[in-house]
Amino acid sequence: MSQESESQVVVTLPDGSELSVDQGASVQDVAFAIGPGLGEDTVAGVVDGDLVAAEHPVHDGADVVIVTDGSEEYLRVMRHSAAHVLAQAVERLYDDVALAIGPPTDEGFYYDFDGIEVDAEDRERIEAEMREIVAADHEIVREEVSREAARERLEGQPYKLELLAEFDEDEPVTFYSQGEWSDLCAGPHVASTGEIGAVSLEETAGAYWRGDEDEAMLTRVYGTAFESEGDLEDYHERKREAERRDHRRIGREMDLFSVPEHSPGCAHFHPNGMTIRRELEAFVRPRNDELGYDEVWTPELNTTDLWKTSGHYEHFSAEGEMFVWEQDGQEYGLKPMNCANHAHLYQRERRSYRELPVRYSEFGTVYRNERSGSLSGLLRVRGFTQDDGHAFVARDGIAEEVTNTLAVIDEMYDAFDLDVHYVLETQPEDSFGDDDLWEEAEGALRDALEAGGREYDVHEGDGAFYGPKVGFDVEDAIGREWTIGTVQLDFVQPERFDLVYVDEHNEERRPVMIHRALLGSFERFVGFITEHFAGNFPLWLAPEQVRVLPLSEDSMEYAEAVADELRDDDFRVDLRMGDTTLQRRIRAGHDDRVPYMVIVGSDEEDAGTVSVRDRQEREARDVDLDDLRAHLLAEREEKRVAPDFLD
Ligand SMILES: [Zn+2]
Ligand SMILES: [Zn+2]
Repeated sequence: MSQESESQVVVTLPDGSELSVDQGASVQDVAFAIGPGLGEDTVAGVVDGDLVAAEHPVHDGADVVIVTDGSEEYLRVMRHSAAHVLAQAVERLYDDVALAIGPPTDEGFYYDFDGIEVDAEDRERIEAEMREIVAADHEIVREEVSREAARERLEGQPYKLELLAEFDEDEPVTFYSQGEWSDLCAGPHVASTGEIGAVSLEETAGAYWRGDEDEAMLTRVYGTAFESEGDLEDYHERKREAERRDHRRIGREMDLFSVPEHSPGCAHFHPNGMTIRRELEAFVRPRNDELGYDEVWTPELNTTDLWKTSGHYEHFSAEGEMFVWEQDGQEYGLKPMNCANHAHLYQRERRSYRELPVRYSEFGTVYRNERSGSLSGLLRVRGFTQDDGHAFVARDGIAEEVTNTLAVIDEMYDAFDLDVHYVLETQPEDSFGDDDLWEEAEGALRDALEAGGREYDVHEGDGAFYGPKVGFDVEDAIGREWTIGTVQLDFVQPERFDLVYVDEHNEERRPVMIHRALLGSFERFVGFITEHFAGNFPLWLAPEQVRVLPLSEDSMEYAEAVADELRDDDFRVDLRMGDTTLQRRIRAGHDDRVPYMVIVGSDEEDAGTVSVRDRQEREARDVDLDDLRAHLLAEREEKRVAPDFLD
């Protein structure tokens, strides 16, 4: 190696090009080497995927991204700076507060404090102080100090001292200061507090130091920051919209479900919610039939031997995720997945290639011990029912099987007016099975995806160790991505259960197992569509589809006849007389998100007609009941997304 190359390091830029810089060069030096303008604008860098300060040295072979104003990384850097401003404001306003950590998050930032309590009023006060610090435009200065000096500066800050003690020997100790305040921090930060465009404090929560229940409970103050007041206002608008759609709130309002204290993480479906769930089951079943699945049912309670064979025991109980206990000298577990029982069903007979694919579907209820802090309504639960299915196919049957499954998925999500985004996840570094098998299987998945003319992303190396997968997600009515289901190939379960079939030459071969869920789980899916539709379910899913409102007691008989006629077509019809005015009853119908209200009085009775009002508060008089019925039948049958009789 020549003298010159020894004092140089080579880094790779995002466009794939390489750049040679002096040994010891920083991210900012790299930026200057690209161009002086970029050097001036550098806020921070991303080195091998880690966000670092502009001063951070680059090493030979590093992937370097320069972070400038306006990028997503810049927002993170700015939010980290906003977290510092929060801590500075708190230290100005409170005595004897100990600082813990204050990182940026996907939505904003937080800072953990010990020794203070912070309510909504306090947050306003702190926020006002933060605005002053931002307005003062203090320069944010990075300073490298000795460990000794750092310890002195952190006197009286036990959490910071604990963090300092964990620094690697050769790791530089840096402080960032702004005005009178400074913090032990690796950075990066924006150049001055004035760069923080708009800031707000959102909420307060308790959080254990290091997330450990045996450690001190700290006060976590959440905030967010944006480059402009306009962006912050948009964020608050989206947040209000998400709250308006919160399935827990709508679930209470529409009496869909509850998660009582005696079954933490396990939802009870009330009659209204169960109606939706049953409709979804009825939606999935014929699709399973169409795909050639045989429906089975397997128990939730198994001895752990089953899970030791499948490998789930090792995987799930190491994480404490499986419910496992001992009784009468036998170890039992609640199933965390349905796969093992289906593999067992496959195994019970000798299989010939002529029978393949063998397919089992099950609305299978599984249990996973999610941490109590992470539970949330129907979206994060401990017990849930998957619309699960396993197909056992020969290697050359993968493409066809997956092609058919994806076609059904596309068609199903159309009914919810949702576009499906597919992702192919390919062979990771530590994978099971020979490379030939992986290559062939990935080719089959690509063929299946492309057969429908679909666009899809490829996440190279992101597949599970046991096989590649096609994952899919959808974007809801307000632009949020929801991960829904998967079509996952599995080369490992067939090995573990020693699954075989006999091929045309009478030789034993291993089938490939395909795990798939179309809706995912009923719990999560109901939670998802509740938010997607904001509780305004399509007619076919609405727990109450039509509400009949007689003008007065005089019209009761006619109202009952109308209701009965609709019930004959299996519509879910409620009749409300009560002792309140028609106006109030109409209001209640809207509040309950009933797609259609049918109003009848003596005029309608004489003419043999009805008045119709829909959820969008549109109205029509003198409607022929047969016309309405015919429309409702078609709207339900075609699973139209919104009531459209009055379009
Ligand atoms: Zn920091
Ligand atoms: Zn499975």
